[in-house]
Amino acid sequence: MSDKFDVIVIGAGPAGYVAAIRAAQLGLKTACVDAFAGKDGKQALGGTCLNVGCIPSKALLDSSRQFHNLTHNFGVHGISADNARIDVPTFVGRKDKIVKQFTGGVAQLFKANKITPFFGTGKLLKGNDVEITGPDGAKQTISATNVILASGSVPIELPFAKFDGKSIVDNAGALDFTEVPKRLGVIGAGVIGLELGSVWKRLGADVTIIEALPDFLGVADADIAKIAQREFAKQGLNIKLGAKLGKAEVKNDGVHLTYTDKDGEQSLVVDKLLVAVGRRAYTDGLLAADTGVKLDERGRIVVDEHNHTGVDGVWAIGDAVRGPMLAHKGSEEGVAVAEWIAGKAGHVNYDTIPWVIYTEPEIAWAGKTEKELKDAGIPYKVGTFPFAAIGRAVAMNEAVGQVKVIAHADTDRVLGVHMVGPGVSELIAEAVVTMEFKGSAEDLARIVHAHPTLSEAVHEAALSVDKRAIHKGN
Ligand code: FAD
Ligand code: NAD
Repeated sequence: MSDKFDVIVIGAGPAGYVAAIRAAQLGLKTACVDAFAGKDGKQALGGTCLNVGCIPSKALLDSSRQFHNLTHNFGVHGISADNARIDVPTFVGRKDKIVKQFTGGVAQLFKANKITPFFGTGKLLKGNDVEITGPDGAKQTISATNVILASGSVPIELPFAKFDGKSIVDNAGALDFTEVPKRLGVIGAGVIGLELGSVWKRLGADVTIIEALPDFLGVADADIAKIAQREFAKQGLNIKLGAKLGKAEVKNDGVHLTYTDKDGEQSLVVDKLLVAVGRRAYTDGLLAADTGVKLDERGRIVVDEHNHTGVDGVWAIGDAVRGPMLAHKGSEEGVAVAEWIAGKAGHVNYDTIPWVIYTEPEIAWAGKTEKELKDAGIPYKVGTFPFAAIGRAVAMNEAVGQVKVIAHADTDRVLGVHMVGPGVSELIAEAVVTMEFKGSAEDLARIVHAHPTLSEAVHEAALSVDKRAIHKGN
């Protein structure tokens, strides 16, 4: 036994590394084991989020947005540029630099907080020992009073469209294309399909997205999804709904897809295929057979409302457990667990976790959709406001979308806020704060919002709940 810790965290994604930092802040002797290697083969802390998820995808979304604006949207401002080109190695290289900056930043934070990092695969043994297998195969065992499992998730692989890293890729592959594919196929019109499909579409790829479900973006509020669907269609994203993929065969001239939709069997040939049909909790090799930690029917680590596994001193957080697979959800669980371990009052409010999809227009929401409220028989009232009537949005030439505020019909308490439009990834924070403080539409309506800003759409939508929006008919 080389060392004894108060806390060992397995996994250094946004759930695990944040848990480790908070534990260390609380005076607990903390170690964090992670197996992720960067492109240079060295340990790259930060998990999926920093290496192949949130941060690199946003870097490419931002670069591709600039290029798309230059080539499509600047004319209206009187700005033109001849021969605009995108250099893909520079485009991807900028993303790689950002990833390195942030994964290195986590290493610095570990140092500053005196957290001991271990590079390798951790396996929980009975009695809260953790066996670490390094990249060279060498094994060592460390032990702790508490172990936090934060092993994250991996992409789901379809048996008839297996990843080969070249023609059929997952998110990591689609963040690293060396040139713009002429024809990109995407399986799954979910968050990854829409974000990464948008990236390559903006650079000129012909993008077809094949989605099994008949409704577009069923997790979002239906009105918001409808507006987004219309805008994506205008951008030329070809989204096939109710389409069931039969097979994907890699041939010399591309990936040959066969799928069935309402019109029967269809075929499509693409140069690259991104499969983004969801992610599964990753627990391969994580648990010795006799630890007592249980997995549910979807392979997620079973935890109670305090993220405790039921095994003394063993906790689990992030994508590896129930709840939305979002970085900020995992981080908040990490903080809460560290605080529970230290005897403090941790807290995660699952009812106000915001969702953001970083397409153009952006989509963001928190709380309940209209359908959820209808199904639950909760009486509600709705206020909406279009960005077309917001001076700032028009001045930016981004006057697309709307804000929708849903409040309880009797108490006026805000139950859900749904947005599609410019900058809504930032605007949603106001909705979360309002709901966290159990605020009403009236509260939002009485708050002074700066003019001219996009946030006025939130203000007006809240006023519209009571049919007194100023800049539209009610
Ligand atoms: P992970 O980030 O998956 O980290 C788990 C870590 O544990 C990994 O480093 C893994 O190598 C390591 N590990 C696993 N098993 C072991 C073991 N036995 N021993 C040692 N190490 C182990 N979420 C958002 O909120 N906003 C976004 O914009 C967003 N964009 C995304 C874009 C893409 C393309 C993808 C794929 C995901 C995105 N997500 C986003 C989701 C987000 O990345 C995840 O919700 C988040 O990373 C989960 O954090 P985690 O710490 O639970 O797991
Ligand atoms: P997803 O669950 O968002 O979407 C998967 C889509 O694939 C769904 O619409 C589903 O109906 C469809 N699908 C499933 N099987 C299919 C099949 N055989 N053929 C055709 N379609 C099929 O999953 P994702 O896009 O892979 O992303 C995984 C998770 O990562 C997300 O749910 C989210 O939690 C997280 N993520 C978040 C962000 C963000 O916060 N902006 C960005 C990317 C990823």
